Amino acid sequence: MASAACPKCGHEFFEMREYEPIGPPSRYEIMFVFCAKCGATVGTVDCSNVGSIVNEIREKLEDIEHKIDYLIK
Ligand SMILES: [Zn+2]
Repeated sequence: MASAACPKCGHEFFEMREYEPIGPPSRYEIMFVFCAKCGATVGTVDCSNVGSIVNEIREKLEDIEHKIDYLIK
C-alpha cells in the first residue's frame, strides 16, 4: 500500500493548522495540511466540517419527526 508523501521533499509526516485566508471573502477559515519537514501545503480542509453539521441537522429533524409521530398517535 502506498503511503502519503510530500510532493516537494518526499517527507511522510504532515501537520494541520487553521488559517484565515486574506482578502475577500475572509470569513472562511481553512485547515491547511502541510509537510512537517518543509512546510509545503499538500491539501486543505474546510473548518466548518459541513458533513458533521448536516449530520447534526439530520438527527434534530429525526427527533422532531419522532415527537410529531408521538403526538399524532
Ligand atoms: Zn516536504
